[in-house]
Amino acid sequence: SPAFSGKRYAVLGLARSGLATVETLLASGAQVMAWDTREEPRAALADRVELADPTSADLTGYDAVIVSPGIPLNRHPITEVAAQAGVPVIGDIELFAQARAALPPHKVVGITGTNGKSTTTALVRHLIESADLPVLMGGNIGLPILGQEPLAPNEHGTGVYVLELSSYQIDLTRSLDCDVAALLNITPDHLDRYEGFSAYAASKARLFAMQSADHHAVFGIGDDDTAAIAGIQVARHEPGRVNFADGRDIVSLQKDWPSLQGPHNLQNAAVAIAIVEALGITRDQWEPAITTFSGLPHRMERVAEANGVLFLNDSKATNPASTAPALAAFPPDPDPRIHWILGGLPKGEDLDECAPFFGNVAAAYTIGDAGPMFADLLKPHMTVHRSEMMAEAIREAITQAKPGDVVMLSPACASFDQFRDYEARGNAFRQIVQALVAPEAPER
Ligand code: ADP
Repeated sequence: SPAFSGKRYAVLGLARSGLATVETLLASGAQVMAWDTREEPRAALADRVELADPTSADLTGYDAVIVSPGIPLNRHPITEVAAQAGVPVIGDIELFAQARAALPPHKVVGITGTNGKSTTTALVRHLIESADLPVLMGGNIGLPILGQEPLAPNEHGTGVYVLELSSYQIDLTRSLDCDVAALLNITPDHLDRYEGFSAYAASKARLFAMQSADHHAVFGIGDDDTAAIAGIQVARHEPGRVNFADGRDIVSLQKDWPSLQGPHNLQNAAVAIAIVEALGITRDQWEPAITTFSGLPHRMERVAEANGVLFLNDSKATNPASTAPALAAFPPDPDPRIHWILGGLPKGEDLDECAPFFGNVAAAYTIGDAGPMFADLLKPHMTVHRSEMMAEAIREAITQAKPGDVVMLSPACASFDQFRDYEARGNAFRQIVQALVAPEAPER
């Protein structure tokens, strides 16, 4: 992009987005200093950039330091070093914002919140694509936005960039004027990187403070902190540009959305609908499209349906708070119907967040390091089958499950005792299930 030609940048943190940033800057004729504490990504750039740590470099004359959102700004020396040299500290999303003027006409959607960002972002992308508009998804999900081919308008309208934005990414952004910005919810999280809850909430609020008054803001209904930010935006934006998305308005539609089950997905879907309506997509367009959304892997992912039993992979649920909505999604009908496979590397000593939904569970199947502890904890409330390995737990669940039941891996634990990561764990679940039950494709 011509926006960076002849400028000087330091890039700190060379994971995927950092490397894509370096490539984009080099391709547009910028001068780049780059650094990562790991040797491997540095070696990949040797000869093409100046390899030096900007934390101990003279940054005079640099246009910006681009840091990875993984670097904790509140306690990293780069903040002070850059401030002394008068150089802004930004992220790759801000570079994208600065390059926008040179891109073909397009719109930008920014989606943030404590929970549900990825689901909502993927759903918005799907609804835009179903309306035959050009769309690209990036930010905290999928590919880094800078490395992707720019979108051009088609006969149906301008293209849309859909960005999932974490608080850290928003903190590194100064001029991102989203055509539609959305906040799903705010609950305490990441407090190690903020001076307290209000600083974390303020980070979310900045996404809206950067918007023009005639652009759209969408807010999920449900918590007071989101409502407080929404209240400020009502005063800032032109009339009609602030939309509230209430999951209760779409309860009756949800039964036809196989990949959006559970109360939490009502909020995600309501926000996604408000976003695409702000883009001009009509109900006639989004309503049929939402039924074909296939969901994200490892988040309540339907991996098989056999003999009336549904198999769900919710491996992304790595703590009890994330497992709770999965258990909430399947109330008794009339008997409890969840066969719950859980366990792994425990993150805490209890399952308190899940307890309100124990009544939905027909039986639990414990695996991994946390197995014995969870088995003791759950025995007073439900039938518990103890296994060591996942395959054993799945086999046992298949023998117990009746038509109408749900066999679900929602571990409430990290995966590292038995798997490389939550994705490897979810893939193992999917493969074992599909090998054991008739290879009948799940209905989408
Ligand atoms: P994020 O990208 O914000 O981490 P995801 O869409 O990947 O969110 O969902 C992660 C987990 O968070 C899900 O498995 C679910 O348990 C929970 N979750 C999703 N959406 C919501 C929501 N709107 N409110 C509360 N919890 C949610």
